Amino acid sequence: MKSIETDVVIIGGGVTGAGTFRDCLIRGIPAVLVEKNDLASGTTGRNHGLLHSGARYAVKDSASAVECIGENRILKKIARHCIEDTGGLFVALDDDDPAYSDKLIVSCRSAGIACREITRQEALQIEPNLNPQIVRAFTVPDATIDPFRLVSANVLDARERGGQVYTHTRVCRIMTGPEGVTGVQCQNRLTGEIFEIRARVVANASGVWGEKVCRATGIEMKMFPSKGSLIIFDYRVNRVVVNACRMPADADIFVPGDTVSLIGTTSRKIAYEDIDTAEVEEEEIAVLLEGAERLVPNVSKTRLLRAYCGVRPLISLEKGTVDGRAISRGIVLVDHEDRDGLKGLISVAGGKLMTYRLMAEKTTDLICHKLDRTDPCTTNSLPLPGSETKGRVPARRNQFKGISASVIGSTQYRHGERVHQILKSDRKNDGLICECEMVTAGEVEYALQHLNVEDIVDLRRRTRLGMGPCQGTLCACRATSFFIDLKKISGEKANQMLVDFIEERWKGIKPILWGDALRETEFSYWIHQGLISTKKKSETPDEV
Ligand SMILES: Cc1cc2nc3c(=O)[nH]c(=O)nc-3n(C[C@H](O)[C@H](O)[C@H](O)COP(=O)(O)OP(=O)(O)OC[C@H]3O[C@@H](n4cnc5c(N)ncnc54)[C@H](O)[C@@H]3O)c2cc1C
Repeated sequence: MKSIETDVVIIGGGVTGAGTFRDCLIRGIPAVLVEKNDLASGTTGRNHGLLHSGARYAVKDSASAVECIGENRILKKIARHCIEDTGGLFVALDDDDPAYSDKLIVSCRSAGIACREITRQEALQIEPNLNPQIVRAFTVPDATIDPFRLVSANVLDARERGGQVYTHTRVCRIMTGPEGVTGVQCQNRLTGEIFEIRARVVANASGVWGEKVCRATGIEMKMFPSKGSLIIFDYRVNRVVVNACRMPADADIFVPGDTVSLIGTTSRKIAYEDIDTAEVEEEEIAVLLEGAERLVPNVSKTRLLRAYCGVRPLISLEKGTVDGRAISRGIVLVDHEDRDGLKGLISVAGGKLMTYRLMAEKTTDLICHKLDRTDPCTTNSLPLPGSETKGRVPARRNQFKGISASVIGSTQYRHGERVHQILKSDRKNDGLICECEMVTAGEVEYALQHLNVEDIVDLRRRTRLGMGPCQGTLCACRATSFFIDLKKISGEKANQMLVDFIEERWKGIKPILWGDALRETEFSYWIHQGLISTKKKSETPDEV
């Protein structure tokens, strides 16, 4: 059996695992990241992508609010190409509790969040599609953050510093000896190969799956999964983040992102056994659409693109019968040596997408402690690859002769300064593969060579290929040929990969299948069945 030696193994390629991976490598600690699916395929790829200002939490949870505004400021500096600094509004309607608006302004002030009341007219100028019936409005420094780019940039940086990544590889066993943890046993889900990684510390950053990972070592760590569903609209109907000015409830955040807008979220407790099969319910669609129309009435005329859900990992550190009161909603870092007597195992979960850097800092501090190291954390000032230059400097057109401004703009938007490694002034490189999202052949090649891409679904997460109005109907077929050329996969495998991609897109379209979405799906069906004769989805067993 292949055996790899390192100091730290990190389980989970969500934002928490990716951030911890990068922090370890920056501090000079050899580390390996193992992810059972693709990077950002868990909860990290299934949220609003809101870079909270903290205002959402200010009234109820001031500690979270302070944490958010601190990280908001840091990420706006170090992760510029992953963030759109849109700004945000809190808007109150007639039926909202007026006392909440007053509390918001006071609570934001005490948390250090810039929150300013503006007139109804000013709010409508900032956001013309806003409900004209609003009675009060406040500006806050909310922004949007692309989780896929964020994870990819963290992993890219760690890899460029010598870190190793295994995606589509599941940790099936944590190995232990008399001295505690000795490493992990893994299985590559694409090839079936089983191998081990020997390490002194194992960091369990597997999100809601953390309970399962701990259970495999006989440790009890109880999760209380809470599902949240969201709907994506096919147009960018709002410029800034729009929040309902009331206590957190269903469908109260409307977030613009790239070329779309999305409304979220619901919050439904689900059984732990259902975390891998959770689906968007019809009832949730109705709640979300009603909430969206309340904030931005125009959305009733806007085409829906897809719906999806994510599962939030809420943890209880109590053992035995848990009554739910000990559930934590903040960052939870567990040293299993102290809690369960198992040396070398750490679990980290909870928190938010936007507090990932802080979670990673705390986890890496504990890793350093375990390894008797004192290296300080510097991730609060070290920019991610792609965000090195201050401010977003537009790529100079004369460097990319013959390439259209929109291609240069969208490539830079997604990869920041790495645009210079992607675009070349040759006709093949410049050819468009995905017209909806302006993804070129050069970008596809770059992603396949540098960004841990194994299939078209991974490629979608790195480039947005297939995320536009046609949901990959044509571009997925074109992209398949790159896997044949660069990854040397067989034609049969390529066809199966295409089918898996279409099936995955279908999951998000199914809950909103009416009107334009139904018409578009009928068109895609003709192409996939009529032209390419696609067949059934492959079965990939999840458990080893
Ligand atoms: C509906 C919803 C909306 C949200 N909105 C926001 C928001 O707008 N802003 C914000 O800041 N936060 C938001 N959050 C919270 C945020 O999404 C999460 O806190 C964050 O993404 C958690 O990241 P993670 O890396 O800890 O977990 P995950 O992203 O779930 O990563 C865990 C990874 O571990 C992998 N894994 C599991 N088991 C194994 C194994 N045995 N071997 C190898 N790998 C394994 C999984 O495949 C997964 O990729 C939202 C959450 C939800 C549910």
